[in-house]
Amino acid sequence: MVLIVAGAANADTENHNLHQSLEARIHMIGVNREGEVWVFAEQHAGQLEDTPLELMSKARRLADTLGVKLAAAVLGNGVGDLAAKLIHCGADKVYLVEHPLLQTYQTNSYAKVIYDLIHKYEPQIVLYGATITGRDLAPRIASAAKAGLTADCTDLQIGDHTPANNEQTHKNLLFQIRPAFGGNIIATIINYDRWPQMATVREGVMPMPEPDVARKGEVVEEEMQLSQEDLPIQILQEHKRPKKVDLKASRIIVAGGAGVGSKENFKLIWDLANCLGAAPAASRAAVDLGFIDRDHQVGQTGTTVRPSLYIAVGISGAIQHQAGMSQSQKIIAINNDHDAPIFQIAHYKIVGDLNVVVPKMIKAIKEKGVKEL
Ligand code: FAD
Repeated sequence: MVLIVAGAANADTENHNLHQSLEARIHMIGVNREGEVWVFAEQHAGQLEDTPLELMSKARRLADTLGVKLAAAVLGNGVGDLAAKLIHCGADKVYLVEHPLLQTYQTNSYAKVIYDLIHKYEPQIVLYGATITGRDLAPRIASAAKAGLTADCTDLQIGDHTPANNEQTHKNLLFQIRPAFGGNIIATIINYDRWPQMATVREGVMPMPEPDVARKGEVVEEEMQLSQEDLPIQILQEHKRPKKVDLKASRIIVAGGAGVGSKENFKLIWDLANCLGAAPAASRAAVDLGFIDRDHQVGQTGTTVRPSLYIAVGISGAIQHQAGMSQSQKIIAINNDHDAPIFQIAHYKIVGDLNVVVPKMIKAIKEKGVKEL
């Protein structure tokens, strides 16, 4: 079926332009069970982002379960070298689109190219990292393709679904799994009639694949017509603010919560972190209270971490916080409430006032050194 969609009456000029440029060509993509599994291989300045690479391991398993190929789509200018890395990380195929106008990410140009690729090859699943770029790009493509999109998934599976009316079992659907209603339930979302099935996936929730340099794959170079009209924004300068802390790379994390009480008292967290060679982190409540910068937030809307040791100080352990740290190898929790939820997942539980416990820990570490403890 071919559907011509009227241009969206949208106050957002850029979105309006995108619809105008796509409107004459929009074809809804039907259920294509031969379709490949795709990952949008986001890169900036020739460097692949971590999240799409993390996605490759899960996408590989999805493609194997479905018996189809795994492909990565990489767009840019002078980014051909990235194809080999994507193949080493599990791709059977790489769709490579290079153009001077794709040098820097822009919503319209990237959405146009990805949409055209989807339209041409009809993949059954397209996955994006839930990065700033992925969160911007994926909804535009979903809107243009009239397909569904589940944001911020924490897991993906293949499964069958029979609706309540028992009419027909839909086989081998993408189960798009994510916390919902403030993290109080885990929802499984499916899309059985408007394909491709699309999802963005949170950073840090899937393990990075081990590259296999012996893997071979196919590189499909696609030529795309792009003009300045596809770029309604002119980029004059780029300023990148580096993150203040790399929580994902930290082996030890000391995180403080609202229980720490004040920005001044948060010095306890910095001191404990410093003497352990750890990264300081925080709950969202601590960030909202201004105790520490947002780059340090762990949890559903912060960073997902899996350190060897996570010390939670004055953190209740709300489900949204646990979503970002429950995979830590060892968890020590310090809290003056016996019943704090954090104790349900902690390996070592210290019930007491953090203002007493943390200085004692710092003193002991300084006296004995980390190894002896
Ligand atoms: P509280 O819940 O206020 O807990 C403070 C704890 O400190 C209590 O357990 C208390 O017993 C203890 N305490 C107090 N004084 C002392 C003392 N002297 N000694 C020892 N212990 C003491 N939260 C996140 O952390 N990360 C997220 O990414 C995140 N995303 C969210 C997304 C959504 C959509 C929503 C709705 C919420 C999100 N939250 C997130 C917020 C989350 O629900 C909690 O509100 C938050 O984690 C609570 O932070 P906290 O544990 O520091 O504060």
